[in-house]
Amino acid sequence: MSLRVPQPASHSPGNDSAPSRRHQQAGDLVLSELHPHAVVDQLDGDNVPLNLLTFGNVREVCPKCRHTHLKLVLRQTSVRIAHLFCADCESCFDAHYANGASALTI
Ligand SMILES: [Zn+2]
Repeated sequence: MSLRVPQPASHSPGNDSAPSRRHQQAGDLVLSELHPHAVVDQLDGDNVPLNLLTFGNVREVCPKCRHTHLKLVLRQTSVRIAHLFCADCESCFDAHYANGASALTI
């Protein structure tokens, strides 16, 4: 059993009388879902736990759960493509900038 604490959106303190609705800045990422089998090599045994090395949470929130911050997963032994991973619904996402450039390429 896990206790889920609701995360209120943290706005900077201050009395903003007119909060901006959307921040459409150049840094906004476009998320597209990836099939997990396409990004992670499946191991032979079903009962072998897959150890994913994550590199911290990113600002983006899972489009499915809408409250879980995605984790950055870079290429590693069993990971073919760097992607964003939601630990809650176990979905994988690719991230692009609005201009089409990949946001996960290092
Ligand atoms: Zn999710």
